[in-house]
Amino acid sequence: MSDDTIKSLSPIVLPPLPYADNALEPVISANTISFHYGKHHKGYVDNLNKLIAETEFADMTLEKIITETAGKADKTAIFNNAAQAWNHTFYWRSLKSKGGGEPPAVLKKKIETSFGSVDACKKEWSAAAMGQFGSGWAWLVLDGGNIKVVKTANADSPLTRGLKPLLTIDVWEHAYYLDYQNRRADYVNAVIDKLINWSFAEDNLK
Ligand code: MN
Repeated sequence: MSDDTIKSLSPIVLPPLPYADNALEPVISANTISFHYGKHHKGYVDNLNKLIAETEFADMTLEKIITETAGKADKTAIFNNAAQAWNHTFYWRSLKSKGGGEPPAVLKKKIETSFGSVDACKKEWSAAAMGQFGSGWAWLVLDGGNIKVVKTANADSPLTRGLKPLLTIDVWEHAYYLDYQNRRADYVNAVIDKLINWSFAEDNLK
């Protein structure tokens, strides 16, 4: 990721939202953002800082904490909070006011090579978001030279599978329940069509 704020050492910081809390309306309300960013995301960061204080993880970057604790049964709480802290910062950057539309040229070509068309990519991504049973994330990632769709459960991250995240959509209920109740498909499709920040994905290709 190009911005170094996500890599800052302990205490892990809650990066500022990259836009005003009402910037994603009407797709995502300021009310949802106030809970999702101000309570959930902040909670993961605060919990993580408590868990890593005076441990071997206190001087590690967030990415390092995630890869060091992944799959270790006695480090689950640290992994979950670290990955959720990272995932949320990445999610906020995956969205923007007046997003959606056509991807920029370089990314578009890569999507067409990998999926056949931008529409096919969006369809597969949306289906993955809908197909994630329970809480999790639906991602576009770079796998070698190809763009792929992957879904992860709970806090799990493509970073631990050697994949490079390009964009993500949070499909935990807290991401959409205040605005959409149980209608996850309406939330996911509105995010892809109206908020997704294709330029951020193109930056992440580099
Ligand atoms: Mn969330």
